[in-house]
Amino acid sequence: MVKKDVLVVGGGVLGSFHAYWALKQGKSVGLLEKDMEPRGSTVQNFGQVVPSGFGSKWQKFGRESLNTYRDIQGCHDIGIQENGSIYLASNDEEQTLLEELHIINQQNEYPSFLWSKSECLKKYPGLKRDYVKGGLFFPLEISINARQMIHELRSFLVEKMGLEYYGNTLVQQCEKKNGSIELVDSRGNVYCGDKVVICNGSDYQNLYPDCFSKSDIEISQLQMMQTFAQDPGFEIKGNILTGWSIRRYEAFAECPSYAGIVALEDEKSFQAQHGIHILFKQLPSGEVIIGDSHHYASIDQCHKLKDRIDMDIDNFMLAEARKIFSLPTFGIKHRWLGKYSQCKTKDVFQKTIDDDIHIVTAIGGKGMTASAGFAKYNMDLILA
Ligand SMILES: Cc1cc2nc3c(=O)[nH]c(=O)nc-3n(C[C@H](O)[C@H](O)[C@H](O)COP(=O)(O)OP(=O)(O)OC[C@H]3O[C@@H](n4cnc5c(N)ncnc54)[C@H](O)[C@@H]3O)c2cc1C
Repeated sequence: MVKKDVLVVGGGVLGSFHAYWALKQGKSVGLLEKDMEPRGSTVQNFGQVVPSGFGSKWQKFGRESLNTYRDIQGCHDIGIQENGSIYLASNDEEQTLLEELHIINQQNEYPSFLWSKSECLKKYPGLKRDYVKGGLFFPLEISINARQMIHELRSFLVEKMGLEYYGNTLVQQCEKKNGSIELVDSRGNVYCGDKVVICNGSDYQNLYPDCFSKSDIEISQLQMMQTFAQDPGFEIKGNILTGWSIRRYEAFAECPSYAGIVALEDEKSFQAQHGIHILFKQLPSGEVIIGDSHHYASIDQCHKLKDRIDMDIDNFMLAEARKIFSLPTFGIKHRWLGKYSQCKTKDVFQKTIDDDIHIVTAIGGKGMTASAGFAKYNMDLILA
């Protein structure tokens, strides 16, 4: 029987970073993942690591994550790209919010630079002159390739830190027995740990289904697309966030003018109804990822989320993207739906059972940015 100090269920970004911090504390750690490789939101996402988009509390976790990604990149190539993030304003209201967010970040000692229209046009080839009014640039922010990062991170944890990884291992039971925690997988294998951390992402059927059905967790479904590789030599660097992101991201809610500006928005507009904002990120291989839309459903209603791409939304997003950038190709190579879970009233779902079983999930749309830093804080509490 496997016996570890810490067992983590769920090999997504949140589970993997909990495993990382337990290993850093010298613990023996097992990571159990129901698929051979994780297939949840950790590999479906945009790959923007953008603490600038968070309010002050979560920005601290995001900044800790930046340090963690860099530390690991120094030992093992997990594919991070160091090109910063830019928020592009398209009108005076959005420009006001950028100026206010710049001041907040100066107070928080998080570097940011206000760029004029001409600076933005110079830095970002293809950016449309009649779209951009100005930009706010965050030089410390990074991008990751979602389809690659988690696999490299796991290789690092296994090869250099001594993690035991159990893929194709669906955990179906978890209970305290004789002072330690026993996990049982779908083949009847038993794993024992002093502490268990459950980072189950959006899977609410296998462990503690009653606990989740009583929660206010909801599923958010996003539509994403990826162009064919752009012409060699065409490069847009870093994370590109545009006007509707400025109106959507939590960080801007701390700006003095935010409430007044958002109150004037048309709730019936197509973009508001489908939770659309336009983001761009170019992969090292040349393709540009463009997103995204958001639709929500509670756990018991999530069958109502359409499991197919809505081409009206896709076409709308592409038309908007064309107003912002002129790319050498807007030909779409790949479209996909991604899902993450979030709580309606809290910023993450946490529950402790029998003192030593710690459920942590529903980190929302901020998991690639905040998980490393949040897991450090949480693992310190769990192991204290
Ligand atoms: C389209 C999209 C774009 C996004 N863009 C960004 C972005 O740019 N920046 C950002 O910061 N965040 C982004 N996010 C959010 C981010 O991807 C998520 O917050 C994050 O991946 C959540 O990680 P997780 O580990 O909690 O969940 P998951 O990635 O879902 O991992 C949970 C894992 O647990 C496993 N599991 C569940 N139950 C069991 C069980 N009983 N036994 C064994 N294994 C189990 C699952 O198989 C899964 O691999 C985006 C999300 C989506 C969908």
